[in-house]
Formats: sequence, structure tokens, C-alpha cells
Amino acid sequence: MKRSKSLLALLIVFFVMMLAACGQDAGNGSADKTSGTENEGGSEDTLRIGLSVSDLTLERWQHDRDFFVSKAEELGAEVLVQSANGDEAKQLSQIQNMLSQDIDALVIIAINSDALSTVVDQAKAEGIPVLAYDRLINGTDIDAYVSFDNVRVGEMQAEYLVEQVPSGKYFLMGGSPTDNNAKMFREGQMNIIQPLVDSGDIEIVGDQWAKGWDANEALKIMENALTANKNDIDAVVASNDSTAGGAIQALEAQSLAGKVVISGQDADLAGVQRIAEGLQTMTVYKPIKLIAEKSAEVAVQLAKGETPTADATVNNGKIDVPFIKLDPISVGKENIIDTVIADGFHSYDDVYKNVPESERPARP
Ligand code: BGC
Repeated sequence: MKRSKSLLALLIVFFVMMLAACGQDAGNGSADKTSGTENEGGSEDTLRIGLSVSDLTLERWQHDRDFFVSKAEELGAEVLVQSANGDEAKQLSQIQNMLSQDIDALVIIAINSDALSTVVDQAKAEGIPVLAYDRLINGTDIDAYVSFDNVRVGEMQAEYLVEQVPSGKYFLMGGSPTDNNAKMFREGQMNIIQPLVDSGDIEIVGDQWAKGWDANEALKIMENALTANKNDIDAVVASNDSTAGGAIQALEAQSLAGKVVISGQDADLAGVQRIAEGLQTMTVYKPIKLIAEKSAEVAVQLAKGETPTADATVNNGKIDVPFIKLDPISVGKENIIDTVIADGFHSYDDVYKNVPESERPARP
């Protein structure tokens, strides 16, 4: 009797745990979710912010979402998050859907910087302020743009490679052709590379853009480039860590990984691990906590009808958009510990996981 009672108690505990687990966010957050549960349904005076994320399948944007939501909640707002997972049409319909959910401000991480003017115009017509998060939205009247200095990101990538390989054959691996940032990174890269092309030190042997910033796309592009150039490539200017990862896989297949210098961006764990192992040359660390928390503050200000203070303006083809500009940080093997690890963005153990103990730098 005593035994069956405790079995029953155990079963109840098990079911309660199952129910609790079902209510939790799966972590990759592809599902829609409203934060700030005490205010479920949006009490009248709670600020409600819509956050439309381009693609939560890429590591970077999961950090952005988490920091943004917790800062916004700390400031008393609730956030409705939706991810389009790289699908432009889905992003449009998700935003339209958000507009019908009584939001006070709309924050968009655009998939296609040129394809959102109609939906943004609609938001503005309804009196909802719009913030472009990290990626500019062109041809429409947005209220603010929070991002890193993206031209500087491109310059940092090229500067690092050029310092190591001042002359030789360079391959350019651009990002998504529909992302305005991809163009800004390229502008910065060429600020550094063009003078060396003009002086005859650098030859550009190919220039392609990886659709959707996709690693597999980058892998294919790199395989073809290696074949076309009979493996004679000295440097790859990859615009972020996902495309660098794909390119490095193609280099590995030709035993060239670690021999060809290659840039990246985002300080993704996989990217930083590759730097620690000597497979990738550098990445650009953009403290995500900084952009996410700043954006949450600006979104709350906009939701309250206030005007945020900007550092500069950037023209989006229609207006000069107030630009809140943040500084990126260049990361190579020599400063991993002082940057991403010191910031708690990644742990020492995770970063050096694949490096033999005897070759690791001292633990901080
Ligand atoms: C961001 C990069 C990111 C890329 C792919 C760009 O707009 O600025 O940090 O790597 O999108 O997600």
C-alpha cells in the first residue's frame, strides 16, 4: 500500500514536470512567443514591442533575441518575437500579423533590405514607430537604425588579411546579396584592397556572394573557385563566420585549411574555435549584448513616443535615418582571451575544446 502511494506521488511529479517542459521555449525560438507573461494579453499600459527576426537558425541571432528580450522586459515592456528563418515572404506576413496585435513599436532584422518598404509604410500609417535592427531598411521612413559601423567591419577583415599576406591572389566571398550590410562590408574591404590591386600587389581571382549567408552555398562557391584557380589562392575575404565555415570545409578537402588566410565575422563559437585551431585567421566581434540592449532601449523610447539620440545619419534612399553606431572589434589568435572570453561571450573551455592542452594559452 505504502509502495503504491509513493508510486502515485512519483507519477504526479513526472506529469507536472512534463507539463512544465511543454510550456518552455525550445531555445531556437522559431516559434512565436510573447514575453513578460504577467502581462499576458497585453494589459492596457504595458508597452508591447514586435521583434521580427530574419533567421534564428544562425547562431548570432539567438544571442540577439535573448539579450533584446531580457533588456526590454527589464524596462517594463513585453516582446512578441517571430523568426522568418530566412524566408522573405514569411517575414512580410509575420510583420503584418504583428501589426494587428496592438504593438507600440516594431523592430525588424531585415532579410531583404529593399523589400520591406510597403509593410513599414503600413506600420507608420498606423502610428507605429519602426527600428531597423542591425540591417538598414531602404526606401522608407524608418525612425532609427542601430548597428555596428559596418564599413569598418569590412576594413578590419581586409586589414588583418593584408597584414599577413600583403601580395597574392585574393578571393572575395560576399554575404547575402539582399542584405544591405553585405554591401557595406564589401565597401570596407575594398577601401583596403583596391589600392593594392591598383599597385599590382593583389590580384582578385574571383568575387561571389553567398545567398542567405548560407555555409553550404559558400562551400560550393569555394570548391568551384579552387578548381577554377587550380588551388592557387592565397587569401579568402569571407564576410562572416558562416560563410568562412563553408569555405574552410572546401579548403580542408584540398589540405589548404590553415595555409590560406581567411576572415570572418560574428565571433560565432565555431569561428572562434577555428581561429584557436589555426584554421581561420580572424573574425570580427560585435558585442551582441551591446547592440541588443541598445536596441531594446531605443525601441522602448520609440514606443513611448520619445526621440532617441543618434550618433550619425545614414541615407536609405528616402530619408537620412538616425544611426546609432557601435564599434566592432577585430579578433585573431592573439586576443581571443582579452575579447570574447573576457566578455563572457564564450568560455575558455568551449573555445579551446579542440586544441591539445599543451598548446593552449594560459587560462585567464
Ligand atoms: C550581420 C552579420 C551576420 C549576417 C548573417 C549580417 O547582416 O551584420 O553579423 O553574420 O548578417 O546573419
